[in-house]
Amino acid sequence: MKLVLIGIQGAGKSTQGNMLSEKYNVPYLSSGHIFREMAKEKTQLGRWLKETLNSGALVPDETTLEVVLTYLEKPEYASGYILDGFPRTVPQAEAFNGSIDKVVYLKVSDKEALWRISGRNDARDDETLQAIRKRIALFHELTEQVIEYYRGIGKLVEVDGEMNVQEVFDACVKSIEQK
Ligand code: AMP
Repeated sequence: MKLVLIGIQGAGKSTQGNMLSEKYNVPYLSSGHIFREMAKEKTQLGRWLKETLNSGALVPDETTLEVVLTYLEKPEYASGYILDGFPRTVPQAEAFNGSIDKVVYLKVSDKEALWRISGRNDARDDETLQAIRKRIALFHELTEQVIEYYRGIGKLVEVDGEMNVQEVFDACVKSIEQK
């Protein structure tokens, strides 16, 4: 099973990603997590990534593709994965021909997402209101085109992400398994 989860920050991608990972017995992989780990390194690349992440800007496509595609070559991802946060731009989607089964769009309004994020009490360094707003703006500007790209090739399923966790999960499974 190869799945991609798309949605704004606060849509529930990591919650659902981990539940789907357990159900389909394939690893969950978040590109944001990979970058956050790399940003801890005391190297020039690490410092540059830290600044990029904290600002809410995207890592350039070329770097993202190199990092994520290299990661996916690891043997543990050979039989499948649940991918969160990648691809985020049309050039990334076009360069990524990973024979994906389905792309799940967890649809949540900006208002609901901001409400959920503001209620978290374990905010990370890159979760300032400014960075979150920038990420949401970039989602509308760039990632919505990725949604249309996958809709165009018949891989997109849309799930209302504003229901409760179990209802969203059930809806994801139902739409993933629909032929
Ligand atoms: P996330 O946890 O998915 O919100 O990602 C956190 C940060 O990592 C983003 O704000 C970007 O700076 C970077 N990032 C993660 N995935 C990508 C991607 N596919 N393309 C570009 N930047 C990314």
